[in-house]
Amino acid sequence: MKQIGTVRAIPHPGDKVQNMDNTVMTWVHALLFRCRQCSGPLTLQVTSDERNVEQIDGALHQLICDCGWEGTFLGVQALRHWVAPWGDLGTWG
Ligand SMILES: [Zn+2]
Repeated sequence: MKQIGTVRAIPHPGDKVQNMDNTVMTWVHALLFRCRQCSGPLTLQVTSDERNVEQIDGALHQLICDCGWEGTFLGVQALRHWVAPWGDLGTWG
C-alpha cells in the first residue's frame, strides 16, 4: 500500500480492556480525512483496545500532509472510519 503523507497519532492512554478469556483484543481503526489545504487524502491508523468508534471519534488526531499542512482533526470528522480486528499485538511478530 502506498503511504500517503506522514501521519502520527496522539497516544490515547487508557485502561486495558480484557475479554472473558483474559486476552487483550486489539482493534485497528483506519480513518480517512481530506487535507484542509490541498484536499488530498490523509489516512490515520490507530490501534485501540476498543472496537467502539466513540473513543477514537472523540479524540483529536494530529496529521501532517505531503503539501506541508499540519493540523488536527477530530476522529468524527473523518470521511470514513473502518475498524478491523487485529488480535493481540503481543503475539504478533
Ligand atoms: Zn495537503
